[in-house]
Amino acid sequence: MSASTEEVDTESTPTRRRLRPSQLVIGVGIAIGLVTVLSGLAGLVFPHEFDENLVTREVFGGIPAPLKVAFYVVVPLVLVYGSVLFSQRVRNWERGRPDNRSTNASNVKRRARDFRAGVYMKTLLRDPAAGIMHSLIYFSFLILLAVTTILEINHQLPDGLKFLEGGVYQGYSFVADIAGVALIVGCVWALVRRYVQRPYRIRIKTKPEHLAGIVVLLALGVTGFFAEAFRIADTGMPEFERWSVVGYPLAMLFENNASAATWQQVWWVIHVAAFVAFLAILPITMLRHMFTSPLNMWLRDRERPKGAMKPMPNLMETELESFGASTIEDFTWKQLLDLDACTMCGRCTSVCPAHATGKPLDPREIVLKSGEVMAATGDPKVSPPLSIDGDITISANSLFERISTEEVWACTTCKACDEICPVNIEIMDKILDMRRYLSLMESDFPTELGNAYRAMENQGNPWAKEGDEMEPEENRPRI
Ligand code: SF4
Ligand code: SF4
Repeated sequence: MSASTEEVDTESTPTRRRLRPSQLVIGVGIAIGLVTVLSGLAGLVFPHEFDENLVTREVFGGIPAPLKVAFYVVVPLVLVYGSVLFSQRVRNWERGRPDNRSTNASNVKRRARDFRAGVYMKTLLRDPAAGIMHSLIYFSFLILLAVTTILEINHQLPDGLKFLEGGVYQGYSFVADIAGVALIVGCVWALVRRYVQRPYRIRIKTKPEHLAGIVVLLALGVTGFFAEAFRIADTGMPEFERWSVVGYPLAMLFENNASAATWQQVWWVIHVAAFVAFLAILPITMLRHMFTSPLNMWLRDRERPKGAMKPMPNLMETELESFGASTIEDFTWKQLLDLDACTMCGRCTSVCPAHATGKPLDPREIVLKSGEVMAATGDPKVSPPLSIDGDITISANSLFERISTEEVWACTTCKACDEICPVNIEIMDKILDMRRYLSLMESDFPTELGNAYRAMENQGNPWAKEGDEMEPEENRPRI
């Protein structure tokens, strides 16, 4: 993924241009935008009469043509804009060193298992309140995205192929309303947790963008119900709409409202505005983890035994001049993806023994500060993982611009942070890579380690024991 992986012997190998992941992201954004535009054009070119006797709903029913046109112009533009912003983040990951995380026959099953565990939020559910709240938001959002897509697909199909009618439509309405309720409950719960209960790990890292993300999702749910209710009221409260288990009772409040049609348009516009706002803030706020976290879960690596450091290259053969990590480019692309996949949940903080005992280390901060350096030194610069104080300046790509050596050396390497992280971020590796740099390149390590390092160099063990003083291999403690 890094530039070095693409080096080819130009004399013997024909040059083959590979699509970079950042280019792929823009391509996907343009493709989805185009499909949306074509979908709007199809409605104009092949208008069809809505049969009011059918048990279904009219897509864009009651929405004037100029608003429909605005929808099909604004939404594709925001989709492309969002993909450009997202691709700028991906360009940052491309700055990293190579790391083979390809999926193949030997690891696909394990990857699928790890991914499933992640998406089912097994780790999140260790804290049931947070896990259930998060699941309510995430799964309901996915369901609502799916029902909206299904509605649009059905909308574009010729009359003979439309499937969202009769019992199917009623079931569809029921599922959509239940998902809407779950989304609203999840968002309200999230607000209560973050701003009323305020557990420590959340309290110390709450920023305005958290509120923005929750409010936009809440607005999507609430405005969706009001737009639906006024639509049902405006169409005369058909019996079959009772399957909209929230929309229908809400519509009863507006049954005889002479302005129901106008109100439907108003709520529809606010609903679409909330969706556009969601798309616009998705790449630049923590909401991006809806995409980056599952990707990170899929790419989880378990090739090394737990706690083992990355192997060093053979020092007699390598042409490397620096070891460990001191700059963003010293991390692998996967380690850089980690920085954008962090949900900032603080679970790592809450289990870190160094943090609990007042040492100057917070594993979440290691991830966030590395992300700040990456964001500030990207080309172009992108927003930091979480907003930071205006007086913090980052002038170079050195990790030590934001991370102190005291933080790095405070780690006990217990790996509890990696184990608890719900999205499989490899935090300890980053700390160990920085330690490796400090030890090997700067000789910057706590004085207590000096004797151990010297002993390892001279006697091959940290206790400075000669071979005959060592316990036989089989009697040594296993760690
Ligand atoms: S690194 Fe993992 S556990 Fe720590 S804040 Fe980020 S997502 Fe949460
Ligand atoms: S490995 Fe280091 S950073 Fe992670 S929990 Fe243990 S002491 Fe904290």
